[in-house]
Amino acid sequence: MRYVDHVADLVGNTPLVRLGAVAEGISATVLAKVEYFNPGGSVKDRIALRMVEAAEASGELRPGGTIVEPTSGNTGVGLAMVAQRKGYSCIFICPDKVSEDKRNVLRAYGAEVVVCPTAVEPDHPESYYSVSDRLARETEGGWKPNQYANQANPESHYLGTGPEIWEQTDGRITHFVAGIGTGGTISGTGRYLKEVSDGRVQIIGADPEGSVYSGGGGRPYLVEGVGEDFWPTTYDKDICDRIVAVSDGDSFDMTRRMAREEALLVGGSCGMATVAALQVARELPEDAVVVVLLPDGGRGYLGKVFNDAWMSGYGFLPPAQGSTVGDVLR
Ligand code: PMP
Repeated sequence: MRYVDHVADLVGNTPLVRLGAVAEGISATVLAKVEYFNPGGSVKDRIALRMVEAAEASGELRPGGTIVEPTSGNTGVGLAMVAQRKGYSCIFICPDKVSEDKRNVLRAYGAEVVVCPTAVEPDHPESYYSVSDRLARETEGGWKPNQYANQANPESHYLGTGPEIWEQTDGRITHFVAGIGTGGTISGTGRYLKEVSDGRVQIIGADPEGSVYSGGGGRPYLVEGVGEDFWPTTYDKDICDRIVAVSDGDSFDMTRRMAREEALLVGGSCGMATVAALQVARELPEDAVVVVLLPDGGRGYLGKVFNDAWMSGYGFLPPAQGSTVGDVLR
């Protein structure tokens, strides 16, 4: 019999899939590292596991403790899964702009979800930063992973994602492309690939137009999970050889093409990273091997990127293309 004891034991070792239709006319090989194959559905399972194990080792997280983190999405799912495996409780703090569906996913895994108002400054006592700090302090056995400052985040990629890609490509990777949120993925994976290749592998960060990583001032954008308006300590500024800024429109267009043409139903930050990867690959010779990391699946975005009316509302699709229930009934 072949089985694991718990679904959390399946984190990592995600496959590489060659991109075909969207990479038409490109001579280089473009490979996608598809992170939705992780058991919680995203790349964040990797950091959840490593952050929890590091905190157990340092004594910050004690048996029966409670994990308290401001998160509305992928990190919460990863933490909830690891918490179940190891007997911890979870309290997640979400801003009220986060959809009810996303909060319900976290509750389904057994987490407690606290909702805070979005329209207050970060230092306001009701902001989700303040509330999470207070709950972490006041909850018996409380521990806050803080994915934006926790070095176990980039470390999980240095020890996992990087070596996996090197091995899967037989050391033939020439370029690595990933979106930057906390910066953990690009910093940890990038550092490993630079070290193992003596600096040969080029590291390219993909960033939403307006975010600080590509020189923006924090202007709002719609792609989720990437870009920041501050510099987290989990991001190593010395790793990227190049940063490519991508617009929301191009990101979403590619996200939809990935589902339609590659049968990869992935999230908006995956479309963004793919746009950057193809831009880089287009300039490269046949023997180049570009690996682009796709952080999550597309099911969490059905009401947005994959919804014609939502896309039209932001001007990403012409209004005529949006079909509604009314159209069908007529
Ligand atoms: N895409 C999505 C959907 C994410 O949730 C994240 C994590 N914030 C990223 C990309 C970026 O990854 P990282 O935090 O490792 O930079």
